[in-house]
Amino acid sequence: MASLYDLSLPELEAHVAGLGQPKYRARQVWEWAYRPLAASYDDMTNVPAALRAALADALPFPRTDVVREIASDDGQTRKRLLRLADGRLIETVLMLYDPRSDSRGRATVCVSSQAGCAMGCSFCATGQGGFERNLTAGEIVAQVIGFAREQRDAGGQRITNVVFMGMGEPLANLPAVWRAIETLTSAAGFGLGARHITISTVGLIPGIRKLAEEPLQVGLAVSLHAPGDALRRSMIATAHRYPLADIVEACRAYIEKTGRRVTFEYCLIERVNDAPEQARALAELLRGLLCHVNLIPVNPTRDDRIRRPRRDRTLAFQRELAARGVPCTVRVEKGTEIAAACGQLRADAPIEVVDAAPVQ
Ligand code: SAH
Ligand code: SF4
Repeated sequence: MASLYDLSLPELEAHVAGLGQPKYRARQVWEWAYRPLAASYDDMTNVPAALRAALADALPFPRTDVVREIASDDGQTRKRLLRLADGRLIETVLMLYDPRSDSRGRATVCVSSQAGCAMGCSFCATGQGGFERNLTAGEIVAQVIGFAREQRDAGGQRITNVVFMGMGEPLANLPAVWRAIETLTSAAGFGLGARHITISTVGLIPGIRKLAEEPLQVGLAVSLHAPGDALRRSMIATAHRYPLADIVEACRAYIEKTGRRVTFEYCLIERVNDAPEQARALAELLRGLLCHVNLIPVNPTRDDRIRRPRRDRTLAFQRELAARGVPCTVRVEKGTEIAAACGQLRADAPIEVVDAAPVQ
């Protein structure tokens, strides 16, 4: 059954019209849902009780029960395990940034787009668990609204950014992801800026091409992880579908069309893809592109053969890129100790406390 969060405003208007009510009632409901973040139709006091009851029957609020929530020691990162209506478990992470830092008080929700993932990245805890199903738009929206409500109740920073870097491959579920983005950016509702949303993809070219055509411009991050196809295919089971040269070409077209910089994510794994000559090959691959490389020292998963490089090696890799004019940062770790960092979002994984030195 569809939930309230699954519908667009025009669809809600059509539904309300079907119930013999004027269109403006739909807008009232929409505003209640996404501005004061009503948690139930009961809160919508200026909407007639009969309409509220009919909507509660046909379009309930989505069920995303918080099974548990854990916070990092500094309280700045919070991971939630959510149970969906059919019992599937997904994870969502809230990352708060100190107002005094470069990120100026951002509050970012990292959402899941699928339960599990079919792309098969060997170093990713979600990938190791396989694919379960696509999330609906409502289930994606609910992850953001849940944290937004909690922040509001606690008098905290409102949500400023959303990144599709949780469980799943967003471009393999683009219709629902796009619908969720349209809801979250609706000026009549939640009002998030499209530029404050980033989709991270393992490199599904048809999806990248679609994003380039969209008037609503969200940020694009592409996970590369290797400078050559052979190595990349050994790390990502489905990488044979799209060769690196074609991915880079699609990104070039995206940049030309949108004028926007693309972020390339590169997960650094000891003795796999962290050698200086690999950095040089990566710089060559990306030559002339308006881009930024985000180096992510790999986070531990159950596979203990996958290790994080030593810090000096990470910095040497970064230096090679920088020396060739490729802007590049090492991702600041948030949430590693609560297994909430990239690639650790697997519902049934035990929540381990790992001793990982943060990379600044
Ligand atoms: N499926 C999309 C988005 C979700 S993964 C994608 O792959 O881009 C988000 C990011 O986390 C990706 O860049 C991914 O490579 C990274 N990631 C996955 N496993 C990781 C791990 N164990 N350590 C660090 N980053 C990881
Ligand atoms: Fe899927 Fe992304 Fe994990 Fe790869 S890194 S398995 S694409 S979630």
